[in-house]
Amino acid sequence: MHSLLRTTLVGSLPKPTWLAEPEVLWAPWKLSGAELAEAQHDALHLAADAQAHAGLDIVVDGEQTRQHFVTTFIEHLGGVDFENRETVRIRDRYDASVPTVVGPVTRERPVFVDAARALRARTDRPVKWALPGPMTMIDTLADRYYHSREELAWEFARILNEEARDLEAAGVDIVQFDEPAFNVFFDDVRNWGVKTLERAAEGLRCETVVHICYGYGIKANTDWKATLGTEWRQYEESFPLLQQSTIDIVSLECHNSHVPVDLIALLAGKKVMVGAIDVATETVETPEEVAATLRRALGFVAPDKLYPSTNCGMAPLPRGVAEAKAAALTEGARIVREELLAGKV
Ligand SMILES: [Zn+2]
Repeated sequence: MHSLLRTTLVGSLPKPTWLAEPEVLWAPWKLSGAELAEAQHDALHLAADAQAHAGLDIVVDGEQTRQHFVTTFIEHLGGVDFENRETVRIRDRYDASVPTVVGPVTRERPVFVDAARALRARTDRPVKWALPGPMTMIDTLADRYYHSREELAWEFARILNEEARDLEAAGVDIVQFDEPAFNVFFDDVRNWGVKTLERAAEGLRCETVVHICYGYGIKANTDWKATLGTEWRQYEESFPLLQQSTIDIVSLECHNSHVPVDLIALLAGKKVMVGAIDVATETVETPEEVAATLRRALGFVAPDKLYPSTNCGMAPLPRGVAEAKAAALTEGARIVREELLAGKV
């Protein structure tokens, strides 16, 4: 495999229509029990195969076995009441029905390890698995026990570390932590956010990613983005801290966003997953548009440290659109890779 511009998706992919309602974020499952388990397994295989077909270098699960990137993990933990859900405000932006912490949180058994093993067995390519980050977890639940965001974040960091170590043992090459909350709660990021993230990644020999974004293309997010002005400089808060951290790779939004590309310079020495695909529009990027974004990013990160990627997950998109965007990503990366090898960039 080439070592330049290795492509990968941030995370989620649309689910097949027989598994969950399409183009609906966090849609409930259409099946249950053993039928659901088998259908999720089939969908995982399809997602892995589709990524290989699109030519992506690093394969993800596409979140085919989870309804929600945060709550599905939380619901598997002890100390959590997920039947008596409460509505809370997520990232100061929108209301969501979430599980409630009612006692000490524990991980009684592995959550995603069986699914990770199934993905590992399906592909020869490196595998990346995403988990929610500690700060984003505490922002996606109601807490009736700890009454301290920081204390609960440290508890989740310990639990995430147990899960990440088991994922690594199952053959996962890269563990990713999703921390969109890092773009919102800057004091927490400084005071304990990066530290709890490092705790979650402690002792891992595989590579680690933190994904920080402006969210899916849902209305609450696009409305919020409209208030952020012409230059989005939120990354300025977290990048200098992450540059000093033990995390190997930082995943950021780029294409079609108002993020100044030169903010990548704040991550000097780190690997960077650059979003060259906009997940908030059904318009499919041309390979040349992808290539243009990657060329701009190459002004600030070396090609062996640049991972062409998506801005965020593609779960809410029609399946055909997501597949076409994945193909545009690999084709755009190929254009720039050939330019690099020919000494043109
Ligand atoms: Zn995201």
